Amino acid sequence: FMESVMIKVTRFAPSPTGTLHIGGVRTALFNFVYSKQQKGKFLIRIEDTDEERSTREFEENILKGLADMGIVPDETPVRQSERSDLYQNAIVQIIESGQAYYCDCSKERLDDMRSKQQADGLKPQYDGKCRNLNLDKSEKSVLRLKTPQTGELIFHDLVRGEVIFQNSELDDLILVRSDGSPTYHFCNVIDDHDQGVTNVIRGEDHLSNTPRQIHIQQALKLPSLEYAHLPMVLGQDKKRLSKRNAVTSLQDYFDQGYLQSSMINMLARLGWSKGDKEIFYIDDLISDFRIQEVQKAGAIFDPAKLDWINNNHIAALSFAEFKSQLLPFLDKQNIDLDSKENSDEILQAMRTSKPTLAGIAEDLRPYFFNVDSYDEKAEKKFLIGSEKALEFIQRKLNGLEIWDEPSIDSALADTQAALDLPTPKLNQPIRIAMTGSTQSPSLGLTLCLFGKAESNARIQNALDHLKESPS
Ligand code: GLU
Repeated sequence: FMESVMIKVTRFAPSPTGTLHIGGVRTALFNFVYSKQQKGKFLIRIEDTDEERSTREFEENILKGLADMGIVPDETPVRQSERSDLYQNAIVQIIESGQAYYCDCSKERLDDMRSKQQADGLKPQYDGKCRNLNLDKSEKSVLRLKTPQTGELIFHDLVRGEVIFQNSELDDLILVRSDGSPTYHFCNVIDDHDQGVTNVIRGEDHLSNTPRQIHIQQALKLPSLEYAHLPMVLGQDKKRLSKRNAVTSLQDYFDQGYLQSSMINMLARLGWSKGDKEIFYIDDLISDFRIQEVQKAGAIFDPAKLDWINNNHIAALSFAEFKSQLLPFLDKQNIDLDSKENSDEILQAMRTSKPTLAGIAEDLRPYFFNVDSYDEKAEKKFLIGSEKALEFIQRKLNGLEIWDEPSIDSALADTQAALDLPTPKLNQPIRIAMTGSTQSPSLGLTLCLFGKAESNARIQNALDHLKESPS
């Protein structure tokens, strides 16, 4: 006989109460990678039972963001709001099991009980008043789980090892509200079972929910699941990642021109590493990722690291790919590549000028448009007083018969020697004349890219500008 092998099924279960957050994408990615690696299935479940806070716009934003990351589920996502039949059946079952009971304690009684417990320094918990009363369902009653009152609940977490909770710390949680609607914990358990989920991979903030959910599973005699609780993503200040300490919206990163592959690389490193290796693509992750190697300590998100990663990923693109990824950013700058014969060379030279595509596109402006202003600091520091150097190099360059890097470089060297100038005193004013700032690739290459006539004209513009401006 062939032994039937249970395939691993993971899921990402976002609540659509906000836009897709990079912490959420990290959770989704780890679920996705783990399922691919195990040749299993990855599902998405929209946990939209909180009617007031859940919206379809947030749901769309989440699904689109995941799709933009290539995190695509193997089945059509389901919504909890459309599964009430399933939950209602499960409610009947848990009542039949004798593991749940109706409780009609009033809000006043519960509030009172809680304040007393707090005053006594105790953890607020339902005291079990109705547990053995065998009450019938009434209009104001809730359904509670008969949670074991003694003993321990132990589960194995793939990241955290053995996790132990004392049952006495857990009270009889509500499964169904008085209006008949099932609660979050109940739906979560029923759905994981119904969808055939085998592995729950989620943020550590859910760790304390796990014993409660396992008790619900056990009451219903459902098979147990494997858990992995991922470390929280922290900002540079070591506090939980939030809008206060980082850009958290995935779309904002795409809008800046961080590549999909860079985001995957960066997110994978939030809680997982492989030796000194820093550059990962999705296929590397699928082969190398080990859920057991995920760290327990919080994972700090470092934007400088992301810049470094993005620079590397951009440099590794084929030229054609680089160009097509850059196009929308060039459009935003109104840059028309056809307006220059040598636009490919310019793009190639500027490919690593900035860590993002938006930054690169901005840096490309002076190559496609006239310089209409000079960077103020650069002008003060280098341009003012550079008339002699500019006039000299202008004559030299105009005298060149061949316009290529070696000829330009030797004209620069000759000028520097003749005027006895340190390199920045010659090179920076030229750079400013050409691009408006002191940023450019090597100067020989820069001048080469502009061509002789344009270089001459821009140096002339800088000289005219220096004449006009009172220094
Ligand atoms: N809906 C929960 C959340 O948005 C996730 C629950 C889970 O993964 O079990 O945080």
